[in-house]
Amino acid sequence: MTGTTLDDYTDRYAQRMRGMTASEIRALFAVASRPEVVSLAGGSPYVSALPLDAVGDMLGELITRHGANALQYCVGQGEMPLREVICEVMSLEGIDASCGASPDDVVITVGAQQALDLVSRVFLDPGDVVLAEGPSYVGALGVFQAAQADVVHVPMDESGLIPEALEEALTAVAASGRRAKFLYTVPNYHNPGGVTLPEDRRQRILEICQRGDVLVIEDNPYGLLGFDGDPLPALRSRVRDGVIYLGTFSKTFSSGVRMGWALAPHAVREKLVMASEAQILCPSMLSQSVVTAYFQTMPWQEQLKTFRTLYAERRDAALSALADFMPPETAWTHPGGGFFVWLTLPEGLDSKAMMPRAIHSRVAYVPGTGFYADGSGQRNLRLSYCFPPPERIREGVRRLSSVMEQELELRATFGATASDHSGRTDTPSPGLA
Ligand code: PMP
Repeated sequence: MTGTTLDDYTDRYAQRMRGMTASEIRALFAVASRPEVVSLAGGSPYVSALPLDAVGDMLGELITRHGANALQYCVGQGEMPLREVICEVMSLEGIDASCGASPDDVVITVGAQQALDLVSRVFLDPGDVVLAEGPSYVGALGVFQAAQADVVHVPMDESGLIPEALEEALTAVAASGRRAKFLYTVPNYHNPGGVTLPEDRRQRILEICQRGDVLVIEDNPYGLLGFDGDPLPALRSRVRDGVIYLGTFSKTFSSGVRMGWALAPHAVREKLVMASEAQILCPSMLSQSVVTAYFQTMPWQEQLKTFRTLYAERRDAALSALADFMPPETAWTHPGGGFFVWLTLPEGLDSKAMMPRAIHSRVAYVPGTGFYADGSGQRNLRLSYCFPPPERIREGVRRLSSVMEQELELRATFGATASDHSGRTDTPSPGLA
């Protein structure tokens, strides 16, 4: 090896590494975490709102009393007590025995992220088509890319995935002689869209997928974080077959325990377990024990209310600041829950090109292009309101608005975006390195 900065391994990498690039969010984390920057970029849940002393006591007790078990390997599917807890949690969204849900068909995973990866390993060959909302969760796009799948985006509006657009996409895929392996969808409080699929669309989308023989991957991290009323019934609650449901404890308890799950038709569940065993042997027994103890012994439903109230306040702070500060012709979604709001910028602005200037003005967001497999999203960006307190959110939105105004002024003067003008579109500022 020469020790130069060139990558000496280039001709050895597997094909699947070709399309893989560092996530836009990862690249931003280093600068966005500086204290002077208001980060509206990452989607970290506000775990400080947990009763940390009580969780600490619970952990100490767990190791003292059950350490020999909690510190051991376990079965690949994950432990029964946690699978029972998972069924109790899913019943809040209508997934219960009446639609055939059972702890036997739950596979415990390292966050919903591993569940996504397992589903891809089980179903996708290189070149297969995946239908996904446009925009889509960046981590899912990374998984599909690693599987060398071809993502076809289906547009959304303020009410989520558009059924007619789904039908059109299916027809176009069929006309090209291919078959969509599955639809990947986040029906509740979408990441990054912030929108939620209403009842009538849920039914129609299921019907379209059933008619087209397309499996549905329902990814639902935020379903219990709605700000008004009861959770909407999950897609999986309406059908016994044809939907693989993915859940996580990252937003209802802790993202650090890395615990999620898949609920799959029995035959698929077997395949998911085999794929998971090949990947990780078994999920962490310690994390499973912690989550089980938390849900069995602590007031988790009360804690959910605390989280909902906290995130609702932050959502309100974001929406009122957007209304107060944003330049005309900026549009944004009105999330009824979850962590994110999705902005559409005035004509001519490019969220990625604007990023160095935003960081210089001490505010961070995620450019929209990260959420599309086809490079669109230049005029969009995602703001997260889950982590900073309300006054910081307001300040962040104010800073972002003034960056946009400067860009618009420069554009009016020079006829291009400020970043185009300075020739820095493709070169990250030192702050972004
Ligand atoms: N799906 C979506 C839509 C998400 O937003 C996230 C986390 N940001 C995940 C899956 C993965 O979550 P985890 O692995 O922490 O369960």
